[in-house]
Amino acid sequence: MTMTNNHVASAAHLSCASCGQLLTGAYYVMIDRSESYCVACITTRPRCDSCGAPLTTQSWRLHDGRSQCAHCHHTAIYDPAVAQQLYDETMQAVISHLGLSLKVGVEFRLADAPTLQAVRRLSDDRPAEPGPPTLGLYQRQGHIRAIYILYGLPRLLFRITVAHEYAHAWQGEHCPLLQDHILREGFAEWVAYRHMLWLGAGRAANRMLQGNHPYRPMLEHVLKMEAELGTVGLFAYMRTAE
Ligand SMILES: [Zn+2]
Ligand SMILES: [Zn+2]
Ligand SMILES: [Zn+2]
Repeated sequence: MTMTNNHVASAAHLSCASCGQLLTGAYYVMIDRSESYCVACITTRPRCDSCGAPLTTQSWRLHDGRSQCAHCHHTAIYDPAVAQQLYDETMQAVISHLGLSLKVGVEFRLADAPTLQAVRRLSDDRPAEPGPPTLGLYQRQGHIRAIYILYGLPRLLFRITVAHEYAHAWQGEHCPLLQDHILREGFAEWVAYRHMLWLGAGRAANRMLQGNHPYRPMLEHVLKMEAELGTVGLFAYMRTAE
């Protein structure tokens, strides 16, 4: 599971949320956010590692070097006990509303960015590809199955990431032949997308269909399959997919 952001240009009488200057010409907005930014701030300011917004003087620096804007910091999950509770709630919801249960439990671990990268290299020794940073991962090593989630993610992004990684754990048990990258990631995104709708977080769900994240076309592919096969048909297809 990874993160990315997106902007579109427009025009009106507003001021830049980052430097406060009046916006006279073209300016940028983030998908689904009310803030607008001037061209200088979009092109030169450091960005929030969670949402991609240009940082203002009010920002938080995490111990692993990431920076977070006030908006993301407001709902960020830093406390392992809070994270565990939210992980449990997310997992239970995915089990009850989508029926994706597991026979073998999955441990939960909250990790910082270097730890996540180290765990990733254990299971995948290819050099990291350029692209959105890793927000979570599912790993099976012998008897141990674990979901790692980056600490400090805003609440909804935390839940999206948990639902996505939980879907990979489900695939590990129920889709023994599955290799297809588009189906693997598309289905995991679909589980996260459905979880957002179930939570009533329609804007967060919409964002998954509007951003420029590399998983977006994969999610659209699986949504199309769901429209054709129905949810039950989609699960049946996934169980035998290669
Ligand atoms: Zn994934
Ligand atoms: Zn500005
Ligand atoms: Zn942010």
